[in-house]
Amino acid sequence: MDYDVLILGGGPAGLSTALHLIQRAPHLADRILLLEKAHYPRPKLCAGGLTPDAEILLERLGLDVSEVPHMDASAAHFDFEGKGLSISLPKRHVLRIIRRDEFDAWLAGKTRESGIEIREGVTVKVVRPDADGVTVITDQGNYCAKVVIGADGSNGVTRRCMLPNAPVYTARVLEVITPTRPGPLPSPPPSDANTSIRWGRVPEGRVGVAFFDFFPVPDGIAGYTWDFPTQVRGQPMRCWGIYDTNMLASDSRPPLKEPLREEMARQGFDLDEYEIQGHPIRWFEPSNPISVPRVLLVGDAAGADPLFGEGISMALGYGKLAAWELEQAFSTGDFSFSGYKRRLAWSALGQTLFARWFIASIIYPLKWRWFQILLWRILKPVVVLVAWIFILNWGKRLKT
Ligand SMILES: Cc1cc2nc3c(=O)[nH]c(=O)nc-3n(C[C@H](O)[C@H](O)[C@H](O)COP(=O)(O)OP(=O)(O)OC[C@H]3O[C@@H](n4cnc5c(N)ncnc54)[C@H](O)[C@@H]3O)c2cc1C
Repeated sequence: MDYDVLILGGGPAGLSTALHLIQRAPHLADRILLLEKAHYPRPKLCAGGLTPDAEILLERLGLDVSEVPHMDASAAHFDFEGKGLSISLPKRHVLRIIRRDEFDAWLAGKTRESGIEIREGVTVKVVRPDADGVTVITDQGNYCAKVVIGADGSNGVTRRCMLPNAPVYTARVLEVITPTRPGPLPSPPPSDANTSIRWGRVPEGRVGVAFFDFFPVPDGIAGYTWDFPTQVRGQPMRCWGIYDTNMLASDSRPPLKEPLREEMARQGFDLDEYEIQGHPIRWFEPSNPISVPRVLLVGDAAGADPLFGEGISMALGYGKLAAWELEQAFSTGDFSFSGYKRRLAWSALGQTLFARWFIASIIYPLKWRWFQILLWRILKPVVVLVAWIFILNWGKRLKT
């Protein structure tokens, strides 16, 4: 057997699995290999919003994410037709916004420093488990391992090979980067990115705020538009986008671009002036399988948050749970992973994923205007309480 553990995919889920595993079982360091098809820093379409839960999980790995260039949002505003609910936290930001090329390259650097080998530029083609191990066929040759971790994201090959008939639950997402004020994108700034970036001039009311707008729901889009502060190579920017869980896919819906165009136009931006990019997010559905003998899925390959499409903190959390599963499997010799899904369900990560799936299954299908007004304007205290108990604060409760 070439390796004990092969991790397929070097995003937050794969890197977190590696880092948590080395924390639990340092003797395995030279028996773990991570394969990544791209080269760091590699582009990854993502708004880069890190919740406090993500930061807690990183802190517990001994990592300080403020080393990565970022913008902080001091409040999150949830809007419906011009009014809504703002959430802020005492003495800290609600969201830290990073760029994924920088964040993932930083996390990969930390993983390498911990002694784990990462092989870049290797694309996995086929994953084939048998009774004794798993064969992974790549464009650079074959690898064999006792166990494989499928951390290859929403379009990953591991899930397709392992669970070809399992239903697919994916959201559609579009993203656009603009300057802070309407106008063309500035020419690329120097690359000496500073980690503390000052705000550019942004219209009042949205300065330092992560803005979510649910106005597209009555039109059959089960999601929201967003407008986040961000930075690109040290230059303040805005990251806009639209998220649709596809939970209302059977209804007739406007194309995703139109509501985003409408939202940006309200702020004086013309969508057509900027590059628009799209990528799916596979979301968590409680009945969906997440392992087969000798193979565990983590991160988007297992399922991200259906409510907001948040997946970075979840990916970090899955890595922590998978490391525990691996440690147990190697100490008992049982590689069936038959309890992984049950243990996920009972964990703080599983509880928040279930709560988010449940809430999404209610608030998006109830798409009437009056319901959205009730939710975001009238039931504010209830929404904050539910968010506090069921959606946030799971990172510090995630124990293994
Ligand atoms: C537009 C958009 C905006 C988003 N905004 C946010 C946000 O603000 N906050 C948030 O928390 N989440 C956000 N998400 C979700 C978040 O990006 C994902 O949940 C997160 O990246 C999942 O991490 P992962 O490690 O599971 O997968 P990924 O980050 O997708 O990493 C998978 C890795 O596997 C590699 N890989 C894939 N296939 C192969 C192969 N065959 N062989 C080898 N390597 C392979 C890829 O190159 C990649 O490095 C957003 C997603 C989108 C699309």
